[in-house]
Amino acid sequence: MITRCPLCGGNVKVPDDALPGEIIEHSCGAVLEVHVNDGGLVLKLAEIGEDWGE
Ligand SMILES: [Zn+2]
Repeated sequence: MITRCPLCGGNVKVPDDALPGEIIEHSCGAVLEVHVNDGGLVLKLAEIGEDWGE
């Protein structure tokens, strides 16, 4: 399926067999985590702590 990147708004391809918690990296650099909402898959920005800027 195709869904929308919450960071850049671009299209993100998600495998049909993606599982909740799966991490998908978008070409814009966003790290997205698969969640299930009302039986459908949604993407949220993954919380990767404070690893930025090292
Ligand atoms: Zn993006």
